[in-house]
Amino acid sequence: MKIVLLLLSLMALNTGFSQNSDITTNLYETYENYKESSLDKRRIKHHELQPLLIKHGANNAFTVKKVGESIEGRALNLISVGSGETNVLLWSQMHGNEPTATQAIFDILNFLASDDFQEEKKEILENLTIHFLPMLNPDGAERFQRRNLLGVDINRDAVRLQSPESKTLKYVRDSLNADFGFNLHDQSTYYNAERTEKPATISYLAPAFNYEKDISEKRGNAMRIIVFMNNIIQKYAPGQVGRYNDDFEPRAFGDNIQKWGTSTVLIESGGYANDVEKQEIRKLNYVSILSAIYTIAKENYKNIAIEEYEKIPENDRKLFDLKITNATYNLLGKDYILDFGINRLEVDKEGNNDFWYSSRIIDQGDLSTYYGYETLDASGYTIKQGKVYAESFEKMEDVLQLKPLELLKEGYTYVQVKNIPFNLLEFPLPVHLIAKTYLLPSLQLEVGVNPTFLLEKDGKPRYAVINGFLIDLMTGKGDFKNAMIYR
Ligand SMILES: [Zn+2]
Repeated sequence: MKIVLLLLSLMALNTGFSQNSDITTNLYETYENYKESSLDKRRIKHHELQPLLIKHGANNAFTVKKVGESIEGRALNLISVGSGETNVLLWSQMHGNEPTATQAIFDILNFLASDDFQEEKKEILENLTIHFLPMLNPDGAERFQRRNLLGVDINRDAVRLQSPESKTLKYVRDSLNADFGFNLHDQSTYYNAERTEKPATISYLAPAFNYEKDISEKRGNAMRIIVFMNNIIQKYAPGQVGRYNDDFEPRAFGDNIQKWGTSTVLIESGGYANDVEKQEIRKLNYVSILSAIYTIAKENYKNIAIEEYEKIPENDRKLFDLKITNATYNLLGKDYILDFGINRLEVDKEGNNDFWYSSRIIDQGDLSTYYGYETLDASGYTIKQGKVYAESFEKMEDVLQLKPLELLKEGYTYVQVKNIPFNLLEFPLPVHLIAKTYLLPSLQLEVGVNPTFLLEKDGKPRYAVINGFLIDLMTGKGDFKNAMIYR
């Protein structure tokens, strides 16, 4: 028994994980104590960060320094903490609509400012100086868009450096000559771990610094840190990690920062079932990045074998929000069996603080190589177009009095309303509103069409798909958000 235990502990030591597993578990379990609760959804803005920067700036342990400005004049701030020789630089949201890691950075700052985990924090802050550059593209964040105000993808501007945001990142990297870099992004929720139905909740890349994809010591260390973080994520989201293709992109920041001599890790936050605002993913960012910082401080990542990096499954993009298989679809009097891949696309409301859904059929046919966050086997069910409700209404409020489940059961998916307020873009009940003058086209399902239909068996509707949301008509169950308005 003793020998077995000794062997097990030796094995654990070899992989470099044993010393860190406890802190990881503790970080996960105590997360709520440090979560920055003022940043609770994805569409965060630059002004929301300012009180947090003032709070941390008042703490003697932190230095908050303005290091640049966006095109529209929003300050770019660098928050530094620690007194160690090893410099770690983390930057987030160079793409304005990729905020998950920005939130995680403020959680990490709260953790570092707290009185807890004294021993581990001493280790971290004596060995490292950590620099955070959150929300590198505040103008893009303001509009919840990828590009900056110049219309440029900052991640293709690492060499030409036309954007002030790009210049700032380059200047900060060079002036610190950072040993480690964390390049923090979000990716589409439709990425999956290759040949599995598991979403790529987190994807990693140790970017190449040349076309040959050579592995230098610096890049090798980035790979080791990734292997370390992958092991953490596997604990909380098993199978939900992907590895990005490492083709060299000479214009990208990750590739260049690797080239300039910083061990660079790209982290992409993807999707996680029933986590629209990505708050569970944010927590996984917090836990894995903090654990990575700890392993860099302790230098025990050095024992990790690089070969483990290649074993992480590749990223793929084969997920839909809803996948319907084997539905019978009648076209010109003939029946066909089709699968449908449906995505619920977000449309921002004015001010880019909130959104509604306008769903689309993304693909149809044999989709056997694809997966869904939600799937329905529609074998034996026939697709039918929903009808327009016989009675028409003066105003939208009247429709709110109807019982939508009863309507759907009777085959109605549209209700006619005379006066639809001009500023109304979406409707909260699972029936579409159509204006008096709107002529409903007959159902022809194809890529790009809004997925709205009934699935019938023996002439009776059993399921409804309304704006891409599946509703079980027997139980009324369905994670419905909004229907559309047609004028
Ligand atoms: Zn990005």
